[in-house]
Amino acid sequence: MRDAEADRSEGAGILDLVHDGVIVRDLAGTIVEWNAAAAHQYGWTRAEAVGRKQAELLPHMRGESFEALDAGLEAAGSWEGEVTRRARDGRERVVELRWSLRASAAGSAGRIVETGRDVTDRRATEAALRLNDYRFRNLFEAMAVSFWEIDFNRVGALLLPLRGAGVADLRAYLADHPELVREAMRVARVLDVNARTLSLFGAASKDEIVGDGVERFWPEASVPLFVEALAATLEKQPHLISETRLLDLQGREIEALFTVSWSAESRKQGVVLLGVIDIGDRLRAERMLRKVQADLAHAARVATLGEFTASIAHEVNQPLAAISANAGAGLRWLERPEPDLDEVGAVLARIAADSRRAADIIQRVRTMAQRREPERAELCVNALVEETIAFLRHDLDSHRVAVALSLAGGLPPVHADRVQIQQVLVNLAVNAMQAMAGYDETAARLDIATEAGPQAVRILFEDKGPGFGGAVPERLFDGFFTTKASGMGMGLPICRSIIEAHGGHIEAGDRPDGPGARFVVTLPVLA
Ligand code: ADP
Repeated sequence: MRDAEADRSEGAGILDLVHDGVIVRDLAGTIVEWNAAAAHQYGWTRAEAVGRKQAELLPHMRGESFEALDAGLEAAGSWEGEVTRRARDGRERVVELRWSLRASAAGSAGRIVETGRDVTDRRATEAALRLNDYRFRNLFEAMAVSFWEIDFNRVGALLLPLRGAGVADLRAYLADHPELVREAMRVARVLDVNARTLSLFGAASKDEIVGDGVERFWPEASVPLFVEALAATLEKQPHLISETRLLDLQGREIEALFTVSWSAESRKQGVVLLGVIDIGDRLRAERMLRKVQADLAHAARVATLGEFTASIAHEVNQPLAAISANAGAGLRWLERPEPDLDEVGAVLARIAADSRRAADIIQRVRTMAQRREPERAELCVNALVEETIAFLRHDLDSHRVAVALSLAGGLPPVHADRVQIQQVLVNLAVNAMQAMAGYDETAARLDIATEAGPQAVRILFEDKGPGFGGAVPERLFDGFFTTKASGMGMGLPICRSIIEAHGGHIEAGDRPDGPGARFVVTLPVLA
């Protein structure tokens, strides 16, 4: 008896070294062996399990029942399969089982030996992967974005040796070797595309795209973006987003937002995911909006010009009056018995200068009145401020508004449309003038300052009108906000749309030193 006990515990000791759960039962189904791994898997200790009926302790929740399996086991001698059992703590365990029937040796009854491997975690991972794959497929297929899976391995094989060959700047190298870029486009093989890709790129079925390279989708003008995508791939950037133009299968251009992304996993496999969003409608709407804004700005400019006819007439009149006086003087010099030709020459030079001045003024008025596409150039903000004041001089004088300029020296130029920026400055100056009219007229003064900010130039307008009393109306820059009887409320919205289109911004507030408004225009300078 003692020996038998010793044998058993020794046997169990060896079984405890096995990672799989080992359970031995007799032909009546009673557990006679239960190793440490089984105890770990199911939660019952060896002492608790031995002597119990296995079919009762560990019934199969999923998979065939003990009765059905036992019936077949006798004939086949062994069975393998997967079942789900409930462990002591109530959690379900998925186990891969192997049963074998050990025939009874002489004198001992037969046994059924079970080895079981717990595959719960593996199955859960597989299920999660399947779900992920399903989700990915779902997204891939169902999104209104054109998706492309591209095999980049051959592109890598084409480009990686360049590094070894000492090419440090891949972008520059590819710019000099367009044939290599085209080759990369040809060997970048399309693995899969979604339904949206077919409709966007004009394909009837996937066969027209899958399996081939991508060269035919890239017009010459978009090649630099392809180069950028290649470089970004090799530099292991996480993603790339850019607006570009692509071609559909019929050769029509698609205005697209193009994205490339690499996950660590897909990078290992050399697969890139491209997304293409058709932004043609949005861009067309934006172009339309810009046109409407430009038309509106134009209308506002013409309206402003109308308000300044007195100023303009006065400005043109000055050189004309000077021309007329000089012409008279010239004639008198000629009518002398001894005509003084030197004087006549000097007078003619003054006439020429004055007629240029008049022509300049008319030119300026004409540019303001013209309807034309905005055109950006390098501009000196100080000169623009001075021109604006010259333009308004007559009105400022007749409103008795003093102007104090404080223009910073050495300002960097801005890249902007002259007429549009001038329109903003005129608007702000006119608003200031109107705000001060009928307020404290003895103090009426407009301070205009320019200063250099970080990567920007600022223009400050400060008047001595009522200002905003500490509360700038929220809708100040919205269309049709006006407090004037004959106001349109379009001046400030137009100013804002012009300044923002230039990448800058405009803010309103009270001037820090007492009543009066302050408008600050910030324009970015050339990098
Ligand atoms: P409008 O001049 O036709 O009213 P704007 O858009 O140019 O249109 O101005 C909108 C409103 O903003 C004005 O009616 C006025 O109430 C306010 N505003 C603009 N500039 C000033 C200023 N310098 N001081 C006080 N209020 C101002």
